[in-house]
Amino acid sequence: MTEHGTVAHGELKEALPVETRISPGAARIMEINRDAIEHPNEFWSKVASELYFSERTGPAFEEIKEAPYGRWFAKWKTNLSYNCLDRWIGTETQHKVAFYWEGENGDQRTLTYLQLYREVNRMASILETAGVKAGDRVTVYMPMIPEAIFTMMGIVRLGAIHSVVFGGFTAQALADRINDSKSKVVVTADGGWRRGKIVELKKIVDQALAQTPTIEKVIVVKRTAQPVEMTEGRDVWYHDAVKGAADYVAPVMVEGTHPSYILYTSGTTGKPKGACHSTAGYMVWLYYTTNAVFNITPKDLFWCTADIGWVTGHSYIIYGPTLRGATSLMYEGAADFPAWDRWWDNIEKYGVSILYTSPTAIRGFIKQGEKWPEKHNLSSLRILGTVGEPINPEAWNWYYRVIGKSHCPIVDTWWQTETGGIMISPQPGIATYPLKPGSGTLPLAGVDAAVVDEHGKELPRAEKGLIVIRRPWPGQFMTLWGDHQRYEQVYFSKFPGFYYPADFCYRDTDHYFWLLGRADEVMKIAGHRIATTELEDILIMHPAVAESAVIGKADEIKGEVPVACVILKPGHTPSPQLRQELLDHVRNNMGPIAVPSQIYFVEKVPKTRSAKIMRRLIRDVVEERPLGDVTTLEDETSVEEARRAYNELKAQIDKART
Ligand code: ATP
Ligand code: MG
Repeated sequence: MTEHGTVAHGELKEALPVETRISPGAARIMEINRDAIEHPNEFWSKVASELYFSERTGPAFEEIKEAPYGRWFAKWKTNLSYNCLDRWIGTETQHKVAFYWEGENGDQRTLTYLQLYREVNRMASILETAGVKAGDRVTVYMPMIPEAIFTMMGIVRLGAIHSVVFGGFTAQALADRINDSKSKVVVTADGGWRRGKIVELKKIVDQALAQTPTIEKVIVVKRTAQPVEMTEGRDVWYHDAVKGAADYVAPVMVEGTHPSYILYTSGTTGKPKGACHSTAGYMVWLYYTTNAVFNITPKDLFWCTADIGWVTGHSYIIYGPTLRGATSLMYEGAADFPAWDRWWDNIEKYGVSILYTSPTAIRGFIKQGEKWPEKHNLSSLRILGTVGEPINPEAWNWYYRVIGKSHCPIVDTWWQTETGGIMISPQPGIATYPLKPGSGTLPLAGVDAAVVDEHGKELPRAEKGLIVIRRPWPGQFMTLWGDHQRYEQVYFSKFPGFYYPADFCYRDTDHYFWLLGRADEVMKIAGHRIATTELEDILIMHPAVAESAVIGKADEIKGEVPVACVILKPGHTPSPQLRQELLDHVRNNMGPIAVPSQIYFVEKVPKTRSAKIMRRLIRDVVEERPLGDVTTLEDETSVEEARRAYNELKAQIDKART
């Protein structure tokens, strides 16, 4: 075993031939990648030439001395909403559907580009009346309804900066984010629908606003129609304000590096970071990546299942597809409402051809069985995508076979809130080449990705290390809002000059990249460093295991020992034999050092709202401590929810212990 532990997905790696085989499609992708790295100015100017800029002064790319070591379109001027909307007005795209919207309760809306353009203008007018000017921050706390699109695009139309806070967050989390961004206005709704119940958003906003001195106005969209309190002089109903709104608000042309939005990362590893994105670099990056990865044609209907509260929703629901003039589906509610076939029903009903979702969702569907997708005709599907975490080969194969009927390529897209858009992924919009389950394959144009050891030295093929991005790329975030020092420290100090994403990775002999999970969650077992995700990958390879969560438990002798919570697939029951089998499975696949000191069979593991495992909480339960510091969890989940998750897990583990 190396210092970094063994390579996860070990079986696949060994199955590869030793000699390098590069298919013509892959060679083409690599050539484009290099061209953009070597000639960033020429390459990205050419891409940007397809978009509207009111001014194109100076270079597309400029090197700078401090992090992030580059600046994109700094003196060019543009507007993001102009490029998503105005650009289509007067063309054949204006009457094309931009969004089909499906409410959880079955409500439907259709918005053409022209209709969307008008609504965005009206929302911009309402915001302007509320006092919003270029550079101001506006917090968006909304359900997945069309008005959320109007709002986000309306904000950037004014040159203002949005900070979307996921509608599942608590009052405290919302207040913290409002205060960090010093927002002037909040846009919200009376409520949102989730599994047939109302999430009372306005009420939560009211609680949050008790501690946010900067908020002057609240704009409230009516969605659920239960009574809400409106504060005189501060709160306005959207449906009232829209009556007096202007039909056109001139888009404010801003410099390329003008911030378009702040988005707080999910906070799995601590206090949320306010990733701040540019306007032009971000826009060009989405324009390019949406086409390269999803290859959306006029015949396609694209559906990204993310919430607008995450970067995936920003980039591949709101901005990327509209920059391309594509038609998308937006769905408001839960995957299991009214039943576990809601997504498959949506796909059949609208004829979705490109589906973009997460491995967690797929694993959730696997657990429910094939009977749900089998009820529906999914033959419209053409491309499938995943994002958010490594996809285990079993989930990949299920997605490929059961959903894609073995004819849809899967684009496994690796990227982060910080990167703005997709960084490593198959790119059927540019060239096709053989895929491998679990590999993101090759970097996009201009992404200078490498795998290095702890000292920043590039590693030979097939050796596991840390991924770094050695050159700036257009979509990269410019700073952490209000904390540039933390930006430099977190992302650029480990390997000076390189962007450090904190993910494990290796590159195989075909040059394909395999993203192996977070490098910031590592156990130190008797001097060996093993990522928790690595052990989880091994466990999930066992046919009885549906999901697993691993933590390092403090140990006097070894420093830490792994403890695993395991969720079994239907048809499997916990038994001492199965436990032994899993221990042997780890021993055989990873070595004795990684064998868990304990395996708990559980029904459920605690997760954050963005479906990342809450390891800190598991550690508290396993180490038999009361629920510890939830101040950072609180940003993600309410204390109450954390407590509930803690008690639930504790009950399961106590049961397993007896
Ligand atoms: P925080 O940084 O606050 O802890 P986060 O990293 O969970 O939050 P995101 O930016 O949404 O928030 O997630 C990015 C991370 O998700 C990546 O760093 C990587 O670990 C993981 N990831 C995303 N896509 C993939 C993928 N296709 N394959 C493997 N890992 C992925
Ligand atoms: Mg992260």
